[in-house]
Amino acid sequence: MRCACPRAQLVFGRRFRPLDAPARRGLAWEEPNHSCSGGLVHQSVPVAALAALLAPVVLAAQNPTVDAAVERTSAEIIELRHQIHQNPELGNREFETARLVASHLEKLGIEVQTGVAHTGVVGILRGGRPGPVVAVRADMDALPVTEDTPYPFKSLVRTTYLGQDVGVSHACGHDIHTAVQLGVASVLAGMRDQIPGTIKFIFQPAEEGPPPGEEGGADLMVAEGVLENPRPIAIFGLHTLAGLELGRVGYTEGPALAAVDHFRITVQGTQSHGAHPHLGVDPIVMASQVVMALQTIRSRNLPPLEPSVVTVGIMNGGTRFNIIPDEVYLEGTVRTYNPDVRDIVERRMGEILEGITAAGGGTFALDYERITPATINDIALTRKMVPTLERVIGADKVDVLEPTMGGEDFAYYANEIPGFFFRLGMVAPGTTSGGHHTPDFQADDGSVPVGMRAMANLLLDFLEAHAADASNR
Ligand SMILES: [Zn+2]
Ligand SMILES: [Zn+2]
Repeated sequence: MRCACPRAQLVFGRRFRPLDAPARRGLAWEEPNHSCSGGLVHQSVPVAALAALLAPVVLAAQNPTVDAAVERTSAEIIELRHQIHQNPELGNREFETARLVASHLEKLGIEVQTGVAHTGVVGILRGGRPGPVVAVRADMDALPVTEDTPYPFKSLVRTTYLGQDVGVSHACGHDIHTAVQLGVASVLAGMRDQIPGTIKFIFQPAEEGPPPGEEGGADLMVAEGVLENPRPIAIFGLHTLAGLELGRVGYTEGPALAAVDHFRITVQGTQSHGAHPHLGVDPIVMASQVVMALQTIRSRNLPPLEPSVVTVGIMNGGTRFNIIPDEVYLEGTVRTYNPDVRDIVERRMGEILEGITAAGGGTFALDYERITPATINDIALTRKMVPTLERVIGADKVDVLEPTMGGEDFAYYANEIPGFFFRLGMVAPGTTSGGHHTPDFQADDGSVPVGMRAMANLLLDFLEAHAADASNR
């Protein structure tokens, strides 16, 4: 839906500043107090629920019931983390992980739905007091990365992925996310009588993207109705962060993770002998010019303060040193925040290909696929919940993080209802971790109880604040 206001546009349920308006911190996001006719930030959320979202959570003392439950259950949950880590499964293939999740939730007496968006699991915990529904999401999928860590529970699983024999491992920390959410379910199931509302636990497959030719991930979960029956009024999620030490958490207000696009280009020429280039059309020369020219989108077509990345990750062509091949294949990714910027990059990519191949006497094919939108943390919800993180984790251990050009399909939920996605520290003192998606990525077990405390308290405080607001009305 689009906003009628001339100053802003409503895109994916969020307003973005037009490209010619002044930037704030270099990013295109809407001022929280901006309003205009038809300018509801979340069209699908009732006004009363929005009013409740805006009220700050009162800073309370620690929740001893949560702390005791985390203390009591974390050893069991860390054991589950080891099981999940040791048995990683790729996107849309999380069969055993889903079984483990469903079995744990059933043992807790939580209503369980399985087979959502292939292997997704949804648990519904109905509290003993009236209140709204809030959702929390964890991703379950692993990656085709061969693990190289000192863990005794390291993965030895191998598979054939896109024709190559590779190891499979939780190189993005989704084992931690799944375990933390199972732990949160354990903690909250034990205090259900006190909970004012309902908690929907979403365990999602294929966050890293489904296998080629398949659908999957958050968009399919949403399409299959995970945000309906009952409909949550807000959603929470977390992700480990390889650069953040254990015991700390971080968050970003507003734009947090970029939109992710995927492009595939074929530059077509005419094959000839390497000694007779004038008898052919050289796609290697054209493709080289394309790679260089694509970088001018960032440097010459976009305002300098607009975040964007154009990366060519694959360049394949040729079979022999003295043959000019008939085609070159390029593949890469585009990262943006502003939907206008996203449109410009896609348009300019086509124009550059058109111009260079026309000049060189060749042709091209461009397949430009928009994967996930940007993840925008709801500003009101973020401001409301940060005091909880500061109370639970310690104000000096809650970092405000810069937005990243990494992507996250949590965006699909956060475009439907207000969302808050934060980062969980995972590197124990005296240890190091490789980056996400690398063989030596290692998230410390100690991040599990930290995540459990943070998330359980966020959910409870959110529902309690809503209940308090409802009783005051
Ligand atoms: Zn990842
Ligand atoms: Zn991830």
